[in-house]
Amino acid sequence: MDWRTKLLDPKPQARQDYASLATPVYRGSTVVFEGQAAVTDDWRQAENGYSYGLYGTPTTLELASRIAGIEGARETFIVPGGQAAIALIYLSYCKAGSHALVPYSAYGPNKAMAEGLMRGLNVEVEPYDPLIGAGISALIRDNTALIWCESPGSVTMEIQDVPAIVAAAHAKGVAVALDNTYAAGVMFDAFAHGVDVSMQALTKYVGGHSDLLLGSVSARGDAAYAKLGPIYQQLGLAVSPDDCSLALRGLQTLAVRLDALEKATMKVALWLADHALVKDVYHPALPSCPGHDIWKRDFTGATSVFSFTFKDDIPAEHVVSFINALKVFRIGMSWGGVNSLAVVYPGLDRPTQDFGGRIVRLNIGLETPTDLIADLEDAMAVMATTL
Ligand SMILES: *Cc1c(COP(=O)(O)O)cnc(C)c1O
Repeated sequence: MDWRTKLLDPKPQARQDYASLATPVYRGSTVVFEGQAAVTDDWRQAENGYSYGLYGTPTTLELASRIAGIEGARETFIVPGGQAAIALIYLSYCKAGSHALVPYSAYGPNKAMAEGLMRGLNVEVEPYDPLIGAGISALIRDNTALIWCESPGSVTMEIQDVPAIVAAAHAKGVAVALDNTYAAGVMFDAFAHGVDVSMQALTKYVGGHSDLLLGSVSARGDAAYAKLGPIYQQLGLAVSPDDCSLALRGLQTLAVRLDALEKATMKVALWLADHALVKDVYHPALPSCPGHDIWKRDFTGATSVFSFTFKDDIPAEHVVSFINALKVFRIGMSWGGVNSLAVVYPGLDRPTQDFGGRIVRLNIGLETPTDLIADLEDAMAVMATTL
């Protein structure tokens, strides 16, 4: 063979029996088949063999099967982010003329998709009170195709009675999807509580270091798997095997990180709960969090995100100066990484409550809690001098 042809020889020359403890990073779009008869284009790669990199290389499928194993799923799909996971679920369950229900405490971009893309496709997504419980039954219509739960809710942290919602939904043949990002897929057992499809932003706790974006969609059984798979294929939700490799590494330290984060977060939350300028602390392990009793019943722990409100006489501008005075806490969205973050929600949209720009969300990282508390104390002192 000419050297030019040799350059393109795809057959490995090195020994292939390297039994690494780490999952190799398989990059690749094309899969070569044994013969023409074996050529397929099938998203069910875990069962039917590899067909195309779009549905995942072995690195992606390793991450998928680890998540499925941890969550107790029939199968898990890995997608480019938590928001892509939300899109996959909407588009798998809803079609023109469908009705869906979403708690008004849901992740903002979920509601934006409901009002934007889904409305444009003639799917009506109706917001509901996250604390509705069994009362959801009254909102279910003949064309209801999907009920979303997210527990705790984004920013306002309402814990939902997921088993009651599931019972009402299943009595009328409606599927329930859960955004289980807060619980990292482990602190709340979605499938033991009857949920049909569970998603998480792996970006948060599984990644754990603010350096990747990935999502997972886990199907409880065959019905959900069969609904999600074809849409997953049609949308072409491919992910990078390098990101999957980082997520696989993140899984190895997830337990120790969650343990440390839970303890540190509790310390900061309890300190805030005692502070003279603080009105309420919305941390699931504290009775001041809406749905706290349900958290005690259904969850095995808390993680690192919570919110608190300042007392009513504190003007919104002072809350902004508090945020700007923080030095250890960084100002930023997202969470689940090693750094503590703070952000105020000046225009938080809730139908029954007006927080007046006084609700702050914190993500606690792996810094020493006494340093975090000192940082909050200093920033509160700055705020108090401007009062
Ligand atoms: C961050 C987040 C998402 C979206 O995840 P991305 O990976 O950033 O797209 C979805 N749901 C919740 C509750 C989140 O906090």
